[in-house]
Amino acid sequence: MHTRRSLLINCAKIALAAGTSTAVPAAVFAKAPMVGKQAAGFYRVKLGSYEITALSDGTAKLPMSKIYKNIGEEEAETYLVDRYQAGAAEVSVNAFLVNTGERLVLIDAGTGNLLGPSLGRLVSNIEASGYKASDIDDVILTHIHADHSGGLIANGSRVYENAVLHVNRREELFWLKADAESKVDKVLGPQITQAEQCVGPYADAGRLKTFDDNAAPVPGFGSVLLSGHTPGHSGIIVESQGEKIVFWGDVAHGDVLQYDHPEVTVDFDVDQKAAAATRAVAFAEAADQRYLVAGAHHAFPGIGHVRRDDSNYEWVPIVYRASY
Ligand SMILES: [Zn+2]
Repeated sequence: MHTRRSLLINCAKIALAAGTSTAVPAAVFAKAPMVGKQAAGFYRVKLGSYEITALSDGTAKLPMSKIYKNIGEEEAETYLVDRYQAGAAEVSVNAFLVNTGERLVLIDAGTGNLLGPSLGRLVSNIEASGYKASDIDDVILTHIHADHSGGLIANGSRVYENAVLHVNRREELFWLKADAESKVDKVLGPQITQAEQCVGPYADAGRLKTFDDNAAPVPGFGSVLLSGHTPGHSGIIVESQGEKIVFWGDVAHGDVLQYDHPEVTVDFDVDQKAAAATRAVAFAEAADQRYLVAGAHHAFPGIGHVRRDDSNYEWVPIVYRASY
């Protein structure tokens, strides 16, 4: 039974606890161990009757102001600091799975074991999202760089054992049928070796198919040549019930600087001039036509729209939805 005195004491205790909670040693409440990991990296959106699963291969820290070209390092860094992206930015590597109901198509294949332990998580995220690598019918690459093709193989074998691999014909020519001069080039040489190792097993198994510029890699999937980053770099176009998404590959690196300055390129662009020109066209078209865009290196899940603003363009990520 409460006496008036015990009631007052209890009220005082509650008031004390509420008013001074920050002064109570945190250890009192922190006996559970820290978990130290994120949820699985997948996120779903609906496009017409299709289901699209954005998949994370992971993130890596990259000093973007040193990687951007056609802008001074200091100017780039000042711009990025102002947008809370100082120093080494956390850059996403994304891939995307499209389920049309008839076909399961993976667009880009992540890094595999080529770029360190903060990446290479694509297969585990495919599994967490409810699929197996062996369920995938087709893999389409936007281009053959290591962060898009490294995950095609594990221990020299095809990860997507039942899939046909599709690349633009120019990519095959540039990376897999390279001339002797390119093979000994300081920059291109190691990338050519990597391309041979990752794509070669699919070619050996008769599971590599090339597509022409702007042609359909697989029925129902279109492509648009977005040359510059690499010679056959292609956007993959998917449409269902009047809705449209373009999987952009590496049209943009990062979500801010190039939207104000499409002329800014990156170190990895094979043809800097063409990459800048392609980006300007791609931004204008996406803004005018208002379709969805999915970027391989936009912050996960990497899906959004492009709009014009006072300082040129702006990336507008999709809003999180708990159900779809
Ligand atoms: Zn890339």
